[in-house]
This record gives sequence, C-alpha cells and structure tokens, in this order.
Amino acid sequence: MFTVHVGEADPRFGNMLLEQFGGANGELAAAMQYSVQGINCENMACKDLLMDIGTEELSHLEIIGTLARMHLKPMKKSADAAEHDPLIAIAGGGGVALCNSMGTSWTADYLKITGDLDVDLHSNIAAEARAKIVYERLINFCDDPGTKEALQFLMTREITHMRAFMQALDSLGKGPLSIGIIPPTPDIVDQYYNDSTGQGDQGEVDTTGPWNTQEGISVVEAPALSDFQVLKATPKAGRTTLNNGKARVTPGKTKR
Ligand code: MN
Ligand code: MN
Repeated sequence: MFTVHVGEADPRFGNMLLEQFGGANGELAAAMQYSVQGINCENMACKDLLMDIGTEELSHLEIIGTLARMHLKPMKKSADAAEHDPLIAIAGGGGVALCNSMGTSWTADYLKITGDLDVDLHSNIAAEARAKIVYERLINFCDDPGTKEALQFLMTREITHMRAFMQALDSLGKGPLSIGIIPPTPDIVDQYYNDSTGQGDQGEVDTTGPWNTQEGISVVEAPALSDFQVLKATPKAGRTTLNNGKARVTPGKTKR
C-alpha cells in the first residue's frame, strides 16, 4: 500500500513508533477490533465495510512495523542506540515486538466489541480520532522527511475511516442518541445537573453552553449544595438567592 523510505535511523523515534504498532490505539488494535466486529455483524453492508477497513489496518500494521523496524535496527549493535529501548535491543535484537512504546504487551483488552452495530460504530469513530492524534504527535516529533511522509499517509487514512464509520452510522437511519432499543425516560433525559459549582482556583465558574441552555433542557442545581447554602445564608450576606423556590449559589466558593 505504501513504500517506506527512511533517511537516517533514529532509535529513539523508533521506540515512539511502537505505540502505533502494539499500543492501545495502534494498527493491530484497529485491525482486530474492526475484523472481529465484522465477524459478528448481521448487517451485510456494514460487515463488508468493517472487513474492508479491518484488512486495510493490517496493511497499516505492516507499514508502521516496517518503519519502526528501520528506526530500531541500529539497536542490535550500538550500545548508545540500545539505551533508548533496552527491551527491544536486548530481548528483540532491534526488531519490532507487539508492545507499546513503554514495553507493555499488546492485549485484546484494548478492543471495544459490543455486538451492537451502532455502539461499535461510535467506538470506531472515537478510535479513528485517537489514531489520528497519535500520528499527528509522532509527525511533530519527527525530522526525517521519508518517515513524515509515511506517517502523513497513515494519518490521512484514519480520517478517511472516520468519515466512513460516520456515514455508516448515519446510514442506519437512527438518531444520534438512539442506542439499542429501549428509549430513555422522558424528562430525566432532558435534565442537566449542575453538580460542580462555585469558583475554582483558576477562575472556573459555572458556564453555559448548548448542553444546558438549549430549548427543552432544564438545569437542576445540585441539591446538596443548595441545602447547605440555605442553611448558611443570612439576608445581609446576600450570597444566596431563591429562584423558583430553588436555591441559586453565586460564585465564590471552592470548586468541588
Ligand atoms: Mn490505521
Ligand atoms: Mn483507521
């Protein structure tokens, strides 16, 4: 799928690349997650999509593995290079292993496979976003043009996958909040609990956004803190006002 060119090997960077080989958001995890989801999938169109992308991720594993191997290779013979990843140098002879950049073994626990297509597609969209940002950080820590080019290719494909999973989710014709079959309880689903209140050390205060101002959303002040303020309030302190029978706290207390 892509021919990898490396100018000068950088064992330190090779160690970082292992994150995308055997790490939590790496290519093996992506390949296994989508392929196993595909095996379980009863929607034949989405099954084909999952198997297509799962197989592509295996080819990404080959690209990132080749790239990491080229950077790790000097470890076999150079003590200086070996210092950057003693495990790979001593136990692996400068070859890639299915571990992350800290030497932790790859595990199937990384995979999110629920057996519900809409839930799995949400997981996959998030997985692609994580893979994208890890590639971006690797690119930012890299000087070698050939390596950067390969990472740019891999990063780009993750956005292509992210879009495909979003389109697949959309094609199911369910609303974005429709997960599974049992609907959420009316009223409760539209309540926003203002549970962290007061002002924090860095000036954090209660804020508003679409999540607590949009029509149909009702804000519920934290009952525990409201009771506390009513208990402590004196008219001249003026720190508590009653709003529709509910205590409203003005900023000034420690953020909890
Ligand atoms: Mn990939
Ligand atoms: Mn991907």
